[in-house]
Amino acid sequence: MKLLEDRIIMEGAVLPGNVLKVGSFLNQKIDTKLLRSMAEETARLYEGQGINKIMTVEASGIAFAAAVGMVMDLPVLFAKKHQSSNVDGETLACHAHSYTHNTDYNMVVSRAYLTPSDHVLLVDDFLANGAALNALTELVRMSGASLAGVAVCIEKRFQGGGDALRAKGIRVEALALIESMEDGKIKFAHTI
Ligand code: 5GP
Repeated sequence: MKLLEDRIIMEGAVLPGNVLKVGSFLNQKIDTKLLRSMAEETARLYEGQGINKIMTVEASGIAFAAAVGMVMDLPVLFAKKHQSSNVDGETLACHAHSYTHNTDYNMVVSRAYLTPSDHVLLVDDFLANGAALNALTELVRMSGASLAGVAVCIEKRFQGGGDALRAKGIRVEALALIESMEDGKIKFAHTI
């Protein structure tokens, strides 16, 4: 998506450890016009797929998920990274590793909010090694719901998580697909 790629080139910063910082329009300050455009593009890509729920994981995926949910007129569910008093009753849980914090955590969702009749679109801001989205697909599988696919704002393809999901037969769409970030130079694979 050219709008997003241009923004990444203009404002993104490549930090040590292959972390792309996009705090000025996505991860801290949010450009709501860009967010709406990204949500509309995602809705176009997944139109007519019978999706009835958008799902992500806290915290940085929530804004994009909520925007997609609003455009598609669908409810949004976000998994918690810790068991909290907001998650009571029977839960589904899956172990995951945080790329940006380099810590392990349990991804938790109330079973009541994810049911076998759901057809789910998983979304997130970034797809890197795929730990977060793998845990989300596992929660969907455990619930008995079906998976329509994955949509992310930015996929760092060189980290392999997206292609590993594709190899499992899962549809993965990235609005910006980064092929490499060597020496701080961002190279995109193709433009949607
Ligand atoms: P993965 O689990 O695919 O390795 O990483 C995905 C998660 O880590 C995303 O939810 C995102 O919050 C975070 N993440 C991974 N890579 C980056 C990055 O380059 N920049 C930022 N800002 N977040 C990232």
